[in-house]
Amino acid sequence: MIDLFPDPSQARRRKLVVENIGLLLSGRLEQPILDADTIVAVGGTITAVGKRADCDVEDADIVVDARGTTVCPGLVDGHTHPTLGEHSPRTDNHSWILHCLHGGTTTMISAGEVHVAGRPTDRVGVKALAIAAQRSFAAARPSGVKMIAGAPLLEEGLLEEDFRELAEAGVELVGEVGIGSVADVETARTMVGWARANGMRCLTHTGGPSIPGSRLMTAEEILAIDPDVIGHINGGHTAFAHSEIRCLCEGCSRAIEIVHNGNAFAALYALRTAAEMGQLERIVLGTDAPSGAGVPALGMLRLVAMLSSFGELPAEQVFCFATGNTARVHGLAQGIVAPDRPADLVVMDRAQGTAGRTLLDSVALGDLPGIGMVLIDGVPVLRPSRNTPPATTLPEARRRPG
Ligand SMILES: [Zn+2]
Repeated sequence: MIDLFPDPSQARRRKLVVENIGLLLSGRLEQPILDADTIVAVGGTITAVGKRADCDVEDADIVVDARGTTVCPGLVDGHTHPTLGEHSPRTDNHSWILHCLHGGTTTMISAGEVHVAGRPTDRVGVKALAIAAQRSFAAARPSGVKMIAGAPLLEEGLLEEDFRELAEAGVELVGEVGIGSVADVETARTMVGWARANGMRCLTHTGGPSIPGSRLMTAEEILAIDPDVIGHINGGHTAFAHSEIRCLCEGCSRAIEIVHNGNAFAALYALRTAAEMGQLERIVLGTDAPSGAGVPALGMLRLVAMLSSFGELPAEQVFCFATGNTARVHGLAQGIVAPDRPADLVVMDRAQGTAGRTLLDSVALGDLPGIGMVLIDGVPVLRPSRNTPPATTLPEARRRPG
């Protein structure tokens, strides 16, 4: 972690100015690139985005000089499997959230705390685990990353009142439908309805079983269950036939999730299908980590580069999938650079040695950007990334003396 601002709680009340931005990505597909070179944030919330002359940059406590590089919203990983804190038992990953932060991820969303040893499957245990996970991550952000967790799996015996109790306790999510013991589509559909009636969001396990205990869901079953997010439409790892992927995309208007730890060929098919339909706003991204494939620390960036290069989409659009699209589907304010949004930002530049002439060119060629700095709630939390290739130009940060 950066030591320039040793007291984050104090810094969160302070004024941040990010200046000399060469390229500002908004996170919004409607306008992915903003005509602005300056961001101002107070108390962790963006107050102004524009040309420096039009922004109040006086009396800043923290000034980040982007030195002509690119600023993007912090990446939002819509599909993770946390346990508690920084350890995951699935492939014995330690500090996995920290390493993903170094890959530009500032928010993560749980798709179920599936790797907890002895994961309870009874009513009381399911609720206890979900509430414990929600409470733990709300109270202590590992490495500063915002983890939205507490995503119970659908288990036989859960009642309508259980979803009400979970929602009242602050649990917003249901984990992957298809991993818990509920195998009957009508039961799953009923429980998803109870969850939604209480304001909770649901996603499905899509494709073949990923690990022992998960099961095959067909496209027809998923459409009947009607989740908010078609979780990993490109499988985790085993994907549907392309005809079923098309059937899912065309059969509903729900979010289409593509994950890093899935089938890349199917990912590209789903992306092209959504593009053909003119519905790229439905594409949301995640890593599906930790999983049997481990934790790709740069998974979100790798997915952006893969979808932009093989998918032949402008990089600035694909960054929107990883930021504003995913945050919007989950009702989060982050992922967009605009006033009243959290100042969760990634300062990046084209990697040293890339054939791309600009950052966007380099990503469209399949290269990863070099991350120079990550800020969460207006506070620089790392500089530079220890995991990305080195950036061509690094930002500088200074603190007002005294
Ligand atoms: Zn998953």
